[in-house]
Amino acid sequence: MTLFDRVGPSLDLDLAFGVGGVVGERGEAAIQRHRVDEHTWLLRQSLRVSYEAPIMYLLFGAHTALLLDTGATKDPVLFPLRATVDELVAGWLNSHPRDGYRLVVAHTHAHGDHVAADGQFAGRPDTTVIGTDVAAVRDFFGLAQWPAGEAVLDLGERALTVFPVPGHHRAHIAVHDPWTGFLLTGDTVYPGRLYVEDMPAYAESLDRLVTYAEGHPVSHVMGAHIEMSRRAGRDFPIGSRRRRRDEAPLPMTVEALSRVRDAAHTAAPQPGVHRHDGFAIWNGPCRWPALAQSARTLLGSLGRA
Ligand SMILES: [Zn+2]
Repeated sequence: MTLFDRVGPSLDLDLAFGVGGVVGERGEAAIQRHRVDEHTWLLRQSLRVSYEAPIMYLLFGAHTALLLDTGATKDPVLFPLRATVDELVAGWLNSHPRDGYRLVVAHTHAHGDHVAADGQFAGRPDTTVIGTDVAAVRDFFGLAQWPAGEAVLDLGERALTVFPVPGHHRAHIAVHDPWTGFLLTGDTVYPGRLYVEDMPAYAESLDRLVTYAEGHPVSHVMGAHIEMSRRAGRDFPIGSRRRRRDEAPLPMTVEALSRVRDAAHTAAPQPGVHRHDGFAIWNGPCRWPALAQSARTLLGSLGRA
């Protein structure tokens, strides 16, 4: 009997994060769970716990589950990621009993808001926590031609494609899931401030993402943060943990991905902030815009922004 017998889930991706869609509301769980389908969960760290409020993905296959990213907080009391994943795995195994079920913990990239709770998985049975530098990621997936080439991570009846997309971070990967059609893009593409550390590498990675998305069934481009509001071009200030009522939706289209690619190529020769509807490209250090953001956060905490 096969677990994945449909062409794909019917995706209702109107993801209302937060309590009643208000993000960072008092009383909100430290980790919000969004069931995409019986084999797919989005987990989001509450804005109450970290202003980064990163989004993690838990994908179940026939013999292995993948947890992609471990959030911004190490402390299992403040941020019980391991307990949450264990509960979801137990629930899945209850409906789909089998022995020796494995968990792979991978990362879109090694920044602190994506790897912080790795330690919570130390000693977990049947679990591999992949290292975070280029060599570890390349060797685990078998990406010998890094940053070129693709690899397959087969979860059992669910073979993910993994490929390097350096630029935001040198060890950044993208993951395509044929079951949901999700193209998981981490901090390379999401509705927010796209910080670019290495612009030539970033622009090439965007070319690779667009080429991939045009040649494969991608339903949604799914990143790891939301920093834009629903007002065109308007982001939430860096560092702010104030409640948010009007976050932009997380899923992006392949067409929007192409716009990010075009914007990256246009921005390439010019360091600084390049604002667009739905995202902004921060090319290089951007010290003054970052200071202006801090001022917004400060004013916001005084109730004036
Ligand atoms: Zn991040």
